[in-house]
Amino acid sequence: MIRLNALALLLACSATALFAGEKGLGYQDTPMLPDGKWHVHDGERPQPKVITPPTASTNEAPGKPPSDAIVLFDGTNTDKWQNQNWPVENGAMIESKGNQVSKEEFGDCHLHIEWSAPTPAQGTGQGRGNSGVFVMGKYEIQVLDSYDSKTYPDGQAAAIYGQYPPLVNATKPPGEWNVYDIIWTAPRFKDGKLDTPAYVTMFHNGVLVHNHTAVMGAGTHRQLAKYTPHPEKGPLALQDHGNKTRFRNIWIRPINNYDE
Ligand code: MG
Repeated sequence: MIRLNALALLLACSATALFAGEKGLGYQDTPMLPDGKWHVHDGERPQPKVITPPTASTNEAPGKPPSDAIVLFDGTNTDKWQNQNWPVENGAMIESKGNQVSKEEFGDCHLHIEWSAPTPAQGTGQGRGNSGVFVMGKYEIQVLDSYDSKTYPDGQAAAIYGQYPPLVNATKPPGEWNVYDIIWTAPRFKDGKLDTPAYVTMFHNGVLVHNHTAVMGAGTHRQLAKYTPHPEKGPLALQDHGNKTRFRNIWIRPINNYDE
């Protein structure tokens, strides 16, 4: 009997050791992960912050941003923007005189932005609903009416302008709303030179169009893109290309490191 009790005690101690850690959530006797900070299944590792997820947009109405997003445009005003020439009508900000530039600056981020090309469609190729999303104010993801309208592939909607066409053309007809979700890793510079390029992963209307693609640099028309060292953060800019593309539901989430 005594021996059985001893065995039970031993088992109880083992169980305690196995489930040690804050609130008994995990393990402290497991191997350390390569970062040297946490054990495998470490219960003391910070819990990810709880947020309210976004709701999906419909053609009739934008969805709601996730609760921790920085909302740059919610359909009511351009307070978060530098250019007050872009009018707000029916919940949308309309491409107008001069590029639109955010007041706040960002580095690594998840950018969500919705746009709708003018209807009825006017013009052809690059003259048809042309705008652009300049991440960090420099790197253009093309906005263009590419629904049943051709142009050079690295200049169509969702292209990394002058570099890569989207993997597929997921553009909706003019008048309907397109959704871009852009996951952006900013370039890193060291000693005045490029250390690591920018990377972009992107969904257009929920469809993958770029998969951790290394950006060649800041592109311009008819020129090879190149990098020029710049600060860690830059504004979001939207292009004035002389068309009347509409934008709505613009939000951004800076990307934190794990455990932050
Ligand atoms: Mg453009």
